[in-house]
Amino acid sequence: MTKHTSQTNTLREIPENAAGGVLHIDLDALASNWRTLRDNAGGVDTAAVVKANAYGIGIEKAVPALGKAGCSTFFVAHLSEAIRARAVAPDAAIYVLNGLFPGTCASYAEFDLRPVLGSFEDIEEWAAFSRAEGRRFKAAIHVDTGMNRLGLTVPQGLTLKDLKELNDFETALLMSHFVSAEESDNSLNLQQIEAFNAVRATLPDVPASLANSSGIFLKEKPHFNLARPGYALYGGNPTPDRTNPMKPVVGLEGRISQLRWVEVDHTVGYNGRWLALTRRRIATLSVGYADGYPRAASAHGKSGDELLAGMAIVAGQACPFAGNVSMDLITIDVTDVPEDQVKRGDTVTLIGGDLTIDEVGRRAGTIGYEILTNLGARYARVYRGGDG
Ligand SMILES: *Cc1c(COP(=O)(O)O)cnc(C)c1O
Repeated sequence: MTKHTSQTNTLREIPENAAGGVLHIDLDALASNWRTLRDNAGGVDTAAVVKANAYGIGIEKAVPALGKAGCSTFFVAHLSEAIRARAVAPDAAIYVLNGLFPGTCASYAEFDLRPVLGSFEDIEEWAAFSRAEGRRFKAAIHVDTGMNRLGLTVPQGLTLKDLKELNDFETALLMSHFVSAEESDNSLNLQQIEAFNAVRATLPDVPASLANSSGIFLKEKPHFNLARPGYALYGGNPTPDRTNPMKPVVGLEGRISQLRWVEVDHTVGYNGRWLALTRRRIATLSVGYADGYPRAASAHGKSGDELLAGMAIVAGQACPFAGNVSMDLITIDVTDVPEDQVKRGDTVTLIGGDLTIDEVGRRAGTIGYEILTNLGARYARVYRGGDG
């Protein structure tokens, strides 16, 4: 019997011409975005949020590239993600946002990770573990100033200073999270800043952090001691009512499997949701919802309709989706592209140019965050830069 070498759980490299889509990831743009965010955060220490596989771009690539740019603090959502980050960032401070799961303290200590404690139960467990180990392990404390999701309530936060358990470990960070920082005029922003300041005043020696990507750009400048951007690092616009100050990090090309003419009154795709009113040329791309391209970007209507639906750029021309996005395929209307400029095997742009991640999200009725974090595992991934 042939002996097979054991499979590792890292993705094997997929050759570009064997993949339905090619994802281009620019690690120099990522590093440049981090520097831009740091400069906008008034020079305070700036972390990087690398949860969800660094918003889809690959935690093992993103963390070293950010480290070379000067970033030394990282936030993830899960303990498992923190362990992956630690493997490529031996000296960084790594925080786990989602709180302390019961019975996991020893793993935090083993990998030198910091939980973000979000309840008195979390605090008690971390304090008891620290006492038992005889070490003042580091942790953050999260105060909920409006999200009603994770963290101590503000009244609970105001009592923290009297909590004897706080002597058992080191509170390395006091943090909260904005509800709507991307809406620069939302009055909730100021309310949250004021509530956070009230708690912070009771623990004046603890470094504080409030701003996500959009929070960095608020006129109130709630930078405190540490900024925590995620989305903007990856090219998302933190200031939706203004020009995007960030560089694009992610590009996606889909490959054309076939081209065909569809006759008048014929439909395209599952359930016949798109009708050709004139004879149309359709290109079928080898990318679908199983690649994380949202099915909600399907185009239901008739040829020539202006639909809020997916788009591709083919030979410099915007081409609308036609019909439902399938599991593995997307059909687009390329009738307006000169026939000799598009052929089987060509790639078309699905993310890039005017099709920013924000725009792709909008066209799918969602946000760019969801586009990024669903970037599929079947794409060939081509990284550039990242050398500092
Ligand atoms: C995800 C997250 C961030 C980063 O937010 P962006 O909007 O992606 O910049 C910061 N803080 C917390 C608590 C988060 O959950």
